[in-house]
Amino acid sequence: MSTHKKIQAIKGMKDILPEANNAIEQSDFWMAFEQVIRKWSQSFGYRNIRTPVLENTGLFVRSIGDATDIVEKEMYTFIDSLNGDSLSLRPEGTASCVRAVLEHNLLYNNPQRLWYIGPMFRHENTQKGRYRQFHQVGAEALGFKGPDVDAELIAMSYDLWCRLGLADCVSLQVNTLGQKEERQAHRAALITYLEQHQDILDEDAKRRLYTNPLRVLDTKNPALQEMAENAPKLREYLQEDSLAHYQTFLSMLDGLGIPYIENHRLVRGLDYYNLSVFEWVTTDLGAQGTICAGGRYDGLIEELGGKPTPAAGFAMGIERILLLLEQKGGLTDYITPPDIYIIQQGEGAPLYALQTAQQLRAAGFNVIQHASTTSFKTQLRKADESGARFAVILGENEVKDQLITIKDLRQEHPQQTLNINDSINQFNIWK
Ligand code: ATP
Ligand code: MG
Repeated sequence: MSTHKKIQAIKGMKDILPEANNAIEQSDFWMAFEQVIRKWSQSFGYRNIRTPVLENTGLFVRSIGDATDIVEKEMYTFIDSLNGDSLSLRPEGTASCVRAVLEHNLLYNNPQRLWYIGPMFRHENTQKGRYRQFHQVGAEALGFKGPDVDAELIAMSYDLWCRLGLADCVSLQVNTLGQKEERQAHRAALITYLEQHQDILDEDAKRRLYTNPLRVLDTKNPALQEMAENAPKLREYLQEDSLAHYQTFLSMLDGLGIPYIENHRLVRGLDYYNLSVFEWVTTDLGAQGTICAGGRYDGLIEELGGKPTPAAGFAMGIERILLLLEQKGGLTDYITPPDIYIIQQGEGAPLYALQTAQQLRAAGFNVIQHASTTSFKTQLRKADESGARFAVILGENEVKDQLITIKDLRQEHPQQTLNINDSINQFNIWK
């Protein structure tokens, strides 16, 4: 026995394994989800982008904003000991996407529809649906003014719920954040209002009162709900253009038949949003109910050094989607056992098994070959446990005659000894 203490994974960061007792730690579910994602993103003409998980801290401070939860307290930031640069593990995907697009000039006369998938890092309190390394899939439409593209993003996210069988357990909330100048006029009124309620504000609200008062509206504290509900509404400060954008956006959702709820307190945690914002929420995951969030962020590209360019996007939390899928029982068909398990024993059998396995794979079957020799009985048990539909049995006679014995492990069919081509035909008939 080793006397060394085992090293464990970091709190809030999960291994994803071939076998696990829940969906978010089981790799089959991730792979199945990713397959759906590939087809789905392609069907909307979005193209894949992959950026590093580590970026200069300044990228996130400038884009997400320093008065946000993420930048204030959730980022994994450290100094690169080689050159003293401040680096951060990415807490979200949009900033990196925009950085890469600008760095490689992809927007030159060319709008872009992009999607990404990958791990994100936030140092938060872990609980069900909230982790320190979690995964997002996101889409960004860069260079389109909308509101048609805003509606396309909603149609796209809705299409994914339909593909996953989740359309019935999620609902869409929408709002508009107007433009910066409009928010500034509202902000003054909001601060005055919040100051009048100083005595009931909690720590978070007090901290945000002057840095990010809009976020106070999105408080989850039950004691503040009535106060937040009665606060001055941003809507009342919007000019014609912002209102028109919002109305067209909503009428497109109506035309698409996608139901939504207007929530004037939906503000989003990141600073870079304007105009349309939205969240897909579910009541089936307890406190961690938001599975997808997004909106328009027309100011970000300029903020990061590009020419002023409109943009919009969304990000989804994959763990929360998998938890929801698991709860709906919609995941069991994703585990795919091998088609064939090869059992082998005797002189020449290991090599013959390797060769046979290759021929069967070339014919399109997924094949596991028993490695090392144990009794036929043990091997048959392994074949059964693997979930394989068929077994191939190779002993000395099969090697000598260059034939294979095939057995249906799941249905009553007589065992047969055939050449490889006839075996392949027989498997296809039995299937
Ligand atoms: P929340 O209010 O739940 O903290 P957020 O506003 O911080 O969410 P976004 O930055 O908009 O979240 O990220 C988009 C989505 O990513 C969220 O709706 C959620 O599904 C998922 N997500 C965010 N943080 C986490 C986390 N720590 N663990 C798991 N999923 C997360
Ligand atoms: Mg958060």
